[in-house]
Amino acid sequence: MSEVLPCPRCDAPLQEASILGQSVDRCPARHGLLVEQRRLIPLVEALVSATIEVIDLDDPIEPVPDSHGVAGCPDCARPMTRFGYMETRTVTLDRCQPCGIVWIDEGELEPMIRMNAKTTGRAREREAEVHELERHLSAIVWSSGGDVSDGMLGEGGRLTAIKFVPPSRH
Ligand SMILES: [Zn+2]
Ligand SMILES: [Zn+2]
Repeated sequence: MSEVLPCPRCDAPLQEASILGQSVDRCPARHGLLVEQRRLIPLVEALVSATIEVIDLDDPIEPVPDSHGVAGCPDCARPMTRFGYMETRTVTLDRCQPCGIVWIDEGELEPMIRMNAKTTGRAREREAEVHELERHLSAIVWSSGGDVSDGMLGEGGRLTAIKFVPPSRH
């Protein structure tokens, strides 16, 4: 996505970023992420790998209420269509198939990570603070470059010191 596209929620120009090597467009007001459809699974899998240490499999995954109206595609302006992530009703994403892009609203990414980790069985049983995953995700997804700097990585490349910036709520 080379041209600047507007956020489907607030119309602010989306900002290009690289999250763990996957290019995305981020809303500057943190309404969500625009991802090429083919990059959705690689992005989720990269985020699962980066946060696997703090994913608690026993933590229930609450369905995310799909309270937003139908989003217009930032590229072609046609209404986006909804689809259930991993064919469930837990997380409903918006996509434009002709343009091949998916919109992830703020708050949808965390349950997606948990669902992916559970079904792939890669998460270890571990006692973790409920919000630890949210903090890690927040640092990765919303840090300026979208990549975590070496200074934040400890043994084995795991995230250690994270500066937590609470996401703004809409
Ligand atoms: Zn926005
Ligand atoms: Zn479109």
